[in-house]
Amino acid sequence: CGIVGYIGPNDSKEVLLNGLEKLEYRGYDSAGIALLNQDGLNLFKVKGRIAALREKVDEEVTATMGIGHTRWATHGEPSARNAHPHQSASRRFTLVHNGVIENYHDLKREYLQDVNFQSETDTEVIVQLLEKIYEEKQDTLESFRSVMGLLNGSYAIAMIDMEDEDTLYVAKNKSPLLVGVGEDFNVVASDAMATLKVTDQYLEIHDKEIVIVKRDSVTIQSLDGTNQERAPYTAQIDA
Ligand code: GLU
Repeated sequence: CGIVGYIGPNDSKEVLLNGLEKLEYRGYDSAGIALLNQDGLNLFKVKGRIAALREKVDEEVTATMGIGHTRWATHGEPSARNAHPHQSASRRFTLVHNGVIENYHDLKREYLQDVNFQSETDTEVIVQLLEKIYEEKQDTLESFRSVMGLLNGSYAIAMIDMEDEDTLYVAKNKSPLLVGVGEDFNVVASDAMATLKVTDQYLEIHDKEIVIVKRDSVTIQSLDGTNQERAPYTAQIDA
């Protein structure tokens, strides 16, 4: 299982699909990608191989921001429906997640009794909760931070807010996640191997950190909102 994300001036599709292929060795039962452009968010999901996802993805759709996922099912059977990315009720928020949310049942009962869930995954609780909290806070970063504070368990997350084509929201706890730095783009990946083709400069992300990724900047923050300075390292080509 793994995640990959891209934000930059070029079409993200090939970087995402190639990245997912590079992550195949980690094992998976389904895969999906979300591509955001001026026309909206395009979602493609399959049960099975990345090759099947490649066939399903519309060649015509181009997008300068996108996220991708290979799933190793822990909650809910392997199926296209349970494959990531998952979306909030209004479809404003879309995310991919690796890991397990241990308190998803409690969160569902406490905050999301009235929500009509589209999948059987623990992951969907994260994105539905994000929308719920956004309704009060009206601020995506604040809401994202609040949700991360409520989660128990492991996660590597990449999230898209459909109303904001300039930001990719990222968070990590106990699941692998790196941010790759490019000249005029940035990427996110579970393993540098997924995106070595586009950059060898990587930022290590620590547990319980949030990353605000834009085309030309990467801001790492701890859960309390304090900025964390970090220098990139050079990943080995044979990694
Ligand atoms: N727990 C999530 C699910 O079952 C994510 C699994 C994964 O890490 O791929 O959908």
